[in-house]
Amino acid sequence: MQIVPLVHQLQRHWRALPIRVRGTLIIAMPVTCLLIALSAFAWLKASLVEDQILVQQTQGVRLETKRLLNALIDAETGVRGYGLTRRSEFLVPYQNAQTIIPETLDRLEEMVQSDPQQTARIRSIRALADENLRIFQQKLTLKRSPELTEPAANDGPADIVVPANALYDWLQTGKETMNEARSEIDRFAQEEEALLIASRKHQDFYRQITWIVLCISGIVGILGAMLAVHLFYQLEQELASREQNLQRANEQLEVACAQLQRFTANASHELRAPLAAVLSNAQVGLMMLNDLEADPPSIRKKLQKIVTLTKQMSTLVSELLFLARHEGTLSIEALPSIDLNPLLAAVYTDGLSQAKAYQLTLTHQQPLSPVIVNADADLLRQAITNLLTNACRYTPAGGSIELRLLAESQQAIIQVEDTGIGIPTEALPHIFERFYRGDRKRAKASGGLGLGLAIAQQIVQAHRGQISVQSSLGKGSTFQIALPISVDTSKQNVALSSTVATAI
Ligand code: ADP
Repeated sequence: MQIVPLVHQLQRHWRALPIRVRGTLIIAMPVTCLLIALSAFAWLKASLVEDQILVQQTQGVRLETKRLLNALIDAETGVRGYGLTRRSEFLVPYQNAQTIIPETLDRLEEMVQSDPQQTARIRSIRALADENLRIFQQKLTLKRSPELTEPAANDGPADIVVPANALYDWLQTGKETMNEARSEIDRFAQEEEALLIASRKHQDFYRQITWIVLCISGIVGILGAMLAVHLFYQLEQELASREQNLQRANEQLEVACAQLQRFTANASHELRAPLAAVLSNAQVGLMMLNDLEADPPSIRKKLQKIVTLTKQMSTLVSELLFLARHEGTLSIEALPSIDLNPLLAAVYTDGLSQAKAYQLTLTHQQPLSPVIVNADADLLRQAITNLLTNACRYTPAGGSIELRLLAESQQAIIQVEDTGIGIPTEALPHIFERFYRGDRKRAKASGGLGLGLAIAQQIVQAHRGQISVQSSLGKGSTFQIALPISVDTSKQNVALSSTVATAI
């Protein structure tokens, strides 16, 4: 009952995570399971190898222990046989044991060197074995004494003439040491067996755990992979729906933009006629006042105000109409290639009177060779004129303005540099925005509506160019237009003549 809300809560948390985090988690799940499974498998493999080595070693120890015991028993039996029969072939096992026993003990000591208890046991076995060998040796030398034996008549092995009670003693000598050695060897073998069983149990336990871990990580891995697929599917769906939403929003925005553009164009267009009517009526009113003998100054003032405001409004309406009409980029390929030299010369000539009115010096700098770009000459001229007008507006009397054209390998650069008031750093990001005016008082006084730079930027961007500004407060500003140089110079001559016509 509590599970359903918990799942919903988890789902909500999951959806709240950024897609990057969700993607990482989705991938991390099966990868972690795979790593755990691989580690468990590697551990299993290593434990199997360890087990194998242990079994092999214990088998080796068993074999060597058996060999040691056999060598001792054979030696004992051989010595007894020799003692009873005096036949030298009975001495062979004893002689063999003399080399086999130390060798076997060395090997055993090496095999169990990691276990101090077993090593101690081997040392005590060695001592007992040495003692046994010593007793065997003693028996052989002592019992060969003449009072106990008599040579055989036919030169064969000596016949036993040991008295029965002495023979019994002779046979019994060393029995205890031998038994002790045997039981020590047995203990050693049993201990080794117990160690093997314990380590097997230990290994079995770990192997079982490893198998369990392997199975769990396998199951979790499969579940994780299934979950990852499911989550990926969800993520894909979510992304698809987001994309659809974005597309829809984009379409709506495009429609709204187009509507707004149409509305601005229509409204501007519709406003032009009444504005023209207001302006002409005000101007007629002013003319009529001139004919009147009594000229009421208040009416003249009001009519002049109407004329000024109507002119301002007409400019605003024209600029809005311009912006609405020239929204979007132009098809550069469809534009003619024009030389910027005559265009700039024309702007310079036009600007001279304006500069003079503001008591400014206007100079220009142009290269001798043609600078060809694909452009609408009228629009470009409008953009440069806007920059020049601003330079005149925002440069105090006595200042200077320079109009520059530079040709770079890929770009044509147009610069308008003034020694004016400059632009504060915090205003720089906003000056290209529509209706932005830095100094409202000054802009208003100079007739600025805050659209000049927006129009210039729109024109330059429509030509796939860039407009930028560098300014230092109180020292002046440099506005720059960069346009891509035309790749098609074949149309150059035709274009030159058309531009000259425009400039004139
Ligand atoms: P405006 O009609 O106000 O001149 P613009 O879009 O042409 O509108 O310019 C926006 C603002 O950028 C201006 O109000 C002014 O603060 C600043 N500006 C533009 N050109 C210059 C200039 N050459 N020197 C100083 N300030 C300038």
